[in-house]
Amino acid sequence: MKHYVGIDIGGTSTTIGLVSEEGIILDRLVILIEGFASGPIETFLDAIANGIRELSTKYGQPIEGVGIGAPNGNFYRGTIEYAPNMPWKDVHEVAAYLEKKNACRTVLTNDANAAAIGEKQFGVAKNFNDFILITLGTGLGSGIVSGGKMIYGHDGFAGELGHSIVVPEGRDCTCGRKGCLEAYVSIRGLLETYHDFGVGKASTPQEIAMKAQLGDEYAKETFVKTGEWLGLKLADAATYTSPEAVIFFGGIAQASDLFFPSLKETLEANVHNLYRNKIQIMKSGLPLNDAAVLGSAALVM
Ligand SMILES: [Zn+2]
Repeated sequence: MKHYVGIDIGGTSTTIGLVSEEGIILDRLVILIEGFASGPIETFLDAIANGIRELSTKYGQPIEGVGIGAPNGNFYRGTIEYAPNMPWKDVHEVAAYLEKKNACRTVLTNDANAAAIGEKQFGVAKNFNDFILITLGTGLGSGIVSGGKMIYGHDGFAGELGHSIVVPEGRDCTCGRKGCLEAYVSIRGLLETYHDFGVGKASTPQEIAMKAQLGDEYAKETFVKTGEWLGLKLADAATYTSPEAVIFFGGIAQASDLFFPSLKETLEANVHNLYRNKIQIMKSGLPLNDAAVLGSAALVM
């Protein structure tokens, strides 16, 4: 049996998973970023390299390849570039560094792209060649697959729907511009929308979802608006790649019952009739805790 390593680098923790070729996570290690934040990124990368060796030794198996999903990851260069939620700014050659340390083929991409590849290999997108995967979390990430291939663009950063503008001159975005979809549809976006109604506070999207289920009209409306913003931008996105499905992943996607109806309605009302009633809106088929690791491993398979 061949073994691969899938690594999910996040803003607070990094998970290193040992994955079989059938897509089973055999073991995993978690590294908290906090302890490394004040030092150079190399110290953090050395800890990852040690983790890979530890898993390989424990199972007595060589590793066929290492796949990494990371915020602002660049597939072409194997770099993490100016990631807003990481302690290390600038450009860091992560894949090359780890490849040298572990003498093992190492590939890196953006975290949402990794999730899209995981969904294609092991999830609900198995039979799709044209789909968009959207991750809803701290930000809004997206991976676009067209003709069975990940779309990277000329420089490796294609498909960032989160930074397409949904409200001109709207809310401030982490990218420094105004009105990006991510400023409305993300954890922060949802909290701000609810807060804008001026009726009370919530500290997590789960809390707003719970209030909505208990009948809080403003909480319900928060999700309705969220669906409308998504539907509007997806009506645009449909014209570029004509996807057969849009798949949602992440904590907020668990509340799909609350925003899929307004999303579908707004999408169908705004999309060109060539694409009408042809796009499925779905939830990810992968467990929340496994998808990023599986997707990263799938990247190198
Ligand atoms: Zn932005």
